[in-house]
Amino acid sequence: MQPLKHKNFINGEYVESSSGEEFLDINPADTDDVLGSFQLSTKEDAKNAISAALEAQEKWAEMPPAERGRILIRASEILDSMKEELVTTLTREEGKTLNDSRVEVNRAVSLFRFYGVLASRIRGESIQSSEPRTHIITVKEPVGVVSVITPWNFPIAIPSWKIAPALACGNTVVFKPASYTPLIGYMLVEALVKAGIPKGVINYVTGSGSTVGLEMITNKNIDAITFTGSLEVGEEIRRLSSTTGKNVRIMLELGGKNPAIILPDADIDKAVEMVARGAFGLTGQVCTATSRAIVLDKIAEEFTRKMVEKARKLKVGNGLREGVDLGPVVGQRELEKVLSYINIGVSEGAKLLTGGRRLTGEEYDKGYFVEPTVFSDVTPDMRIAREEIFGPVLSIMTASSFDEAIEIANSVDYGLAASIFTKSLDKAFEFMSKIRAGVVKINKPTIGIEIQVPFGGYKKSSSETFRELGEAVMDFYTKIKTIYIGY
Ligand code: NAP
Ligand code: MG
Repeated sequence: MQPLKHKNFINGEYVESSSGEEFLDINPADTDDVLGSFQLSTKEDAKNAISAALEAQEKWAEMPPAERGRILIRASEILDSMKEELVTTLTREEGKTLNDSRVEVNRAVSLFRFYGVLASRIRGESIQSSEPRTHIITVKEPVGVVSVITPWNFPIAIPSWKIAPALACGNTVVFKPASYTPLIGYMLVEALVKAGIPKGVINYVTGSGSTVGLEMITNKNIDAITFTGSLEVGEEIRRLSSTTGKNVRIMLELGGKNPAIILPDADIDKAVEMVARGAFGLTGQVCTATSRAIVLDKIAEEFTRKMVEKARKLKVGNGLREGVDLGPVVGQRELEKVLSYINIGVSEGAKLLTGGRRLTGEEYDKGYFVEPTVFSDVTPDMRIAREEIFGPVLSIMTASSFDEAIEIANSVDYGLAASIFTKSLDKAFEFMSKIRAGVVKINKPTIGIEIQVPFGGYKKSSSETFRELGEAVMDFYTKIKTIYIGY
């Protein structure tokens, strides 16, 4: 059977790429399952999408914000009505379990509602002047045309948390989904179309990062770039966007190497549960995944033993099946990367306590399944303690004091999320102030964020310009104009 063909969406129309070429979208749990074909777009296609967004921007910005908001809220309701189809599509396309897909789809529904409401709360200030008979106000204006470039691991939530506020603020969007997961993004755009979004306001172009993505970074008509993905590509975007000779606003949300510190006074069973959820949930393919457990010597043996027991009990399998805890990694390249890091860990002298292999057998042969893996005897200089693996691999490290644990936690280039497990208020507060991370959790897993609060990292995890999510992100999508009025 021919795979179902999907086109780009540019200037209000579904169009084919000028390349005449397509690529396939494949289920990582069962490579016989093809979700559809998508346009392998060219630079020209991206240029057309950017022109359409530019053309549509003024009118969209002139629409009263409450009306823009109504379209977003309608999109939220449409997504809600498509929920079951979105949930199974997400599991087939990305591999996560149905439960995890449901959480993610619900999040997309909430995001469009949240920013739909916030659209009519965009506001400036009125500030007293130092001069007589003068009044000063500020107003917020949209930035213009926004490039939205997103990863495959949250292929509907991340596009939603970028597109919804961008549109709410009066910007127009060119959206390039990750090539592993174009379908769920296509369905998101369909919901916006059904909600009545005017032509040119949202444009969807599929294809490779190095062609479509590159044009979306270097084109002179782009005013802002919001990117979530790897450190390498993020750094490339930072470099390239500064070469256009224009002041392009950028937001980069990159990787993590997130620590969880476990102190001797913690509820150890609860800590094991939450660190395991952070390390193995969503197959470890989360920017906020727990990849380092830093345990105080006194409880290291108990924590390690219980963590290994826990990891061995987890059921790996096709996310569509009941009772599965973690699905596959997303593709062949990612499988090789995870396995290669496991080899690196062994050769660096870390102790492989459980897992470490690709799973084989009837249930697994057509997918990219890896065993939940636990290393102990990991030291801060090892690559598995410093580099992002993005798979179900946990490194257990030990520290002889609280201060040493914090020092190890802060010793990497990343600073996205961090947890501590303790009953001591004193230690919790000290951790809060000393840890260099944008998301700090006390007795909670590093993964799991809420949409109504700011999100972003320290150090190399983020561009540290603006924060995503919450009301904070509205600052990224607007510019402030200051107006002096004499009378
Ligand atoms: P990626 O390889 O950097 O790709 C992300 C997006 O960028 C994809 O759409 C990709 O397109 C595109 N791209 C690739 N090369 C490009 C280039 N030269 N110019 C412009 N665009 C380009 O990352 P990924 O493998 O999809 O995602 C995993 C990474 O995302 C991890 O490092 C993870 O930590 C990070 N992440 C961070 C957060 C956060 O909020 N901090 C959240 C989730 C994930 P193609 O798909 O066509 O290659
Ligand atoms: Mg896929």
